[in-house]
Amino acid sequence: MNAGTLPSIAYDPQLVFGNVIRVGDSANFATPTVGEGIRICIERGNDLGIALGEAIDTQNPAPLKRFEAACKKQFNTNYYFGNIANQRFSQYDADDWDKSIHHIKYLSERHLVALLRSEFNIFMVFQAVFKMLKQKLLRKNNSHDM
Ligand SMILES: Cc1cc2nc3c(=O)[nH]c(=O)nc-3n(C[C@H](O)[C@H](O)[C@H](O)COP(=O)(O)OP(=O)(O)OC[C@H]3O[C@@H](n4cnc5c(N)ncnc54)[C@H](O)[C@@H]3O)c2cc1C
Repeated sequence: MNAGTLPSIAYDPQLVFGNVIRVGDSANFATPTVGEGIRICIERGNDLGIALGEAIDTQNPAPLKRFEAACKKQFNTNYYFGNIANQRFSQYDADDWDKSIHHIKYLSERHLVALLRSEFNIFMVFQAVFKMLKQKLLRKNNSHDM
């Protein structure tokens, strides 16, 4: 049994609000597909620490804005697609989860890792959709042949 909550909403790129900065789970850094947050929260937390040090040393908030922009670049598009998957998964019942295990075998290792890490690019999304549609058509044709 799992207990605990993770934000499950679209990524919001605004992180810096003057002296208040969203980070970690409060900034939706955990992946929308599987909620992997530890690695990402540590990495981005480290970046924020460096940016904060520079901002304090120079009395200039520019490094914080650069931190916010770098996070947007890393997460905005990836988490947009990840959030679509998240919304879909949230509707799954037990049968759908069983079927999803079956579908995983049609994903290449690279695509599966990308899905788990919510790291997508358009080409991979099209490739994965094409592969699944192809398998669906093949299954349909096979059932007609019988
Ligand atoms: C059930 C579950 C399973 C997970 N499994 C994985 C996994 O396998 N792999 C993975 O990568 N990620 C996993 N995650 C996600 C991961 O745990 C989080 O993304 C990550 O821990 C977020 O780090 P954080 O520093 O933002 O928040 P947290 O780790 O939650 O740290 C926040 C800290 O702030 C403290 N705090 C809260 N309010 C106050 C306050 N007012 N004053 C002082 N302290 C306060 C809390 O006690 C807590 O220690 C899982 C999450 C859940 C809920």
